[in-house]
Amino acid sequence: MQYTLIRSRRHSLSLQIGVGGRLLVRAPFLYPKFLIDRLISQKQAWISKHQTNLAKPRPSPHRFIPDEELKKLIQTHVHHYSAVMGLTPRSLRFTHVKTYWGSCSPKHVLSFNLQLAFTSRKIVEYVVVHELSHLKWRGHGQRFWALVTAHYPATPQVKKQLRALPH
Ligand SMILES: [Zn+2]
Repeated sequence: MQYTLIRSRRHSLSLQIGVGGRLLVRAPFLYPKFLIDRLISQKQAWISKHQTNLAKPRPSPHRFIPDEELKKLIQTHVHHYSAVMGLTPRSLRFTHVKTYWGSCSPKHVLSFNLQLAFTSRKIVEYVVVHELSHLKWRGHGQRFWALVTAHYPATPQVKKQLRALPH
């Protein structure tokens, strides 16, 4: 079995599975190589178990929700806030366009970007309130922001978070 040996002033031996499943062995400076090899063959089962775990495909670290659940979450928020705000869209669309998180067409169709799956629950809720508010006010004027903030008080914080996101 191949491994990377890192010798240092430490007093004991340790095994670690690094990036890409590579085995890292940390050992004291004078620790004999044959003892390291023996330990590795004894720990074979542990090593392969951890290497297999690492090789499994994992969801992207930034995604907090699968697409289908995201759609349901958006629908739930739209339903709730439509009733509360008295603003009902004609229909909903889901897109993968990267230039916006949500949009509101002149025909009152709201679009939501499925890339929202890489943001957070708070941001999704905020985007729903933002787009619903456009059913009343087209631009981003004072009255628009007053409406958004009235229904989503954490708006200033979420806007800050959105600005910090890489696009
Ligand atoms: Zn807007």
